Amino acid sequence: TDIKELLLSRIRDVADYPAPGVVFKDITPLLADPAAFTALTDTLAELALEHGATKIVGLEARGFILGAPVAVRAGVGFIPVRKAGKLPGATLSQAYDLEYGSAEIEVHAEDLSAADRVMVIDDVLATGGTAEASLRLIRRAGAQVAGVCVLMELGFLGGRARLEPALEGAPLEALLQV
Ligand code: 5GP
Repeated sequence: TDIKELLLSRIRDVADYPAPGVVFKDITPLLADPAAFTALTDTLAELALEHGATKIVGLEARGFILGAPVAVRAGVGFIPVRKAGKLPGATLSQAYDLEYGSAEIEVHAEDLSAADRVMVIDDVLATGGTAEASLRLIRRAGAQVAGVCVLMELGFLGGRARLEPALEGAPLEALLQV
């Protein structure tokens, strides 16, 4: 569609970042274009409401940039999931494996309850490890999962398959596939 072409045209490939051989998908040109940024956040807000979301979780850091305007547009609350050690209050933590080593993300425990139906938003689904850990956090907080929405899925990294068990039937929506 026209919107997908617009979004794709505003994503820049950066070779050998952050490591040799990696092609990084840079969304900063999209953020700098108000037509593209508005089209993206409107589309994600529509999807979130379609799937019955009552809260948006954004994954640090680009998931904050996308998730906050989506939450405002959809008229629902925004909850940041941050890298370990950044949130001041009582948190739930979830560790997950990276290719080399591990990482940990956190959410404020009192920000989620059984009444919440949560849509996770991020820019790129790569290996799926971050999104998978976020779903575990949401479920451990007692909330329901409405789904995961990303701008772009890097299909060759197998993130969809890794994420599938944690989705428990909830949708993974990717506006663009590479
Ligand atoms: P994963 O846990 O799925 O391997 O990695 C996803 C996280 O890394 C996301 O939060 C995403 O922002 C970031 N990421 C990985 N690769 C890329 C990329 O090529 N472009 C962008 N913009 N983010 C990436």
